[in-house]
Amino acid sequence: AKAQTGSHVRRYAVELDDRARAEAQLGAELRAALDTGQFRLVYQPIVSLPDARVVSVEALIRWHHPERGLINPVDFIPVAEQNGLIVELGAWILRTACAQAVTWHTSQASSTPVRVSVNVSARQLAEPDFADLVAEVLAWTGLSAHNLIIEVTETAVFRGGQSVQTVKDLHQLGVRIALDDFGTGHSSLGLLHTVPVDVLKVDKSFVDTITMAGRHAVIATALIQVADGLGLSAVAEGVETAEQAAELYRLGYRLAQGYHFGRPVAEPDFHGTVIAAETA
Ligand code: C2E
Ligand code: CA
Ligand code: CA
Ligand code: CA
Repeated sequence: AKAQTGSHVRRYAVELDDRARAEAQLGAELRAALDTGQFRLVYQPIVSLPDARVVSVEALIRWHHPERGLINPVDFIPVAEQNGLIVELGAWILRTACAQAVTWHTSQASSTPVRVSVNVSARQLAEPDFADLVAEVLAWTGLSAHNLIIEVTETAVFRGGQSVQTVKDLHQLGVRIALDDFGTGHSSLGLLHTVPVDVLKVDKSFVDTITMAGRHAVIATALIQVADGLGLSAVAEGVETAEQAAELYRLGYRLAQGYHFGRPVAEPDFHGTVIAAETA
């Protein structure tokens, strides 16, 4: 659509309208994408420091659209969340990731059992039967509960309804709970005594500036102290350089994730670190 006038307000309205239409279109295509198998999961290693052994992998979704090519989750997860399809898509993600993790165990791709981390959105977590779904998927795939990590955000947990109880139920099943993007939301610290949490995933924004002089490392240092003090593990997200990894280790971090150690790939290499282009 073309704005007739030079008015910024008018142009903005037209752009919003275009965007709303594009999102509605995308939302409709999500249904077909699920039915015709256009989604794939890729897996990014989470490694121990300083030896860079793979201890778990995070499942991340990719949409291979027949015309538009690869669409990133930031561009469609919010749309799926909005139109509710995330519930069905999320169930597919959970089943696929758990089934895949079991094949790694049995094929000896890894000498130790691989834990798989699955992202769960606010809407999924608010579903009254989400914990039942997880229990069913574990039974169906044969994955043991302690090899599954569910990643939730503070905002998702605080969305209300069943969410807090669901996190407790999942933990009761033996599933580990990770707080994603830790440090970026609201009431981060308060949440830690409201729900059982096992892992803090320290957001990339705190890792990005860690090797700069001055006050940049203060928050990353405070967050590892919180984790240690509460007996939780902490994963530093978005580690892109050897310098960042070394500095994180010096500050006390023992787990990390990021392009420096491996990009998300269809078949992670459990014996070495994968530093390759995303292929799937
Ligand atoms: P997230 O859960 O925080 O996932 C980490 C994101 O950071 C991933 O982006 C990953 O590819 C990217 N990343 C990892 N290491 C680095 C690095 O060193 N540098 C940079 N620049 N980026 C790095 P991705 O896969 O595009 O996912 C974006 C977000 O979409 C995720 O953020 C998550 O919120 C959501 N998402 C992805 N997959 C799923 C899913 O299966 N279910 C749900 N509900 N959300 C998902
Ligand atoms: Ca995540
Ligand atoms: Ca994250
Ligand atoms: Ca994020």
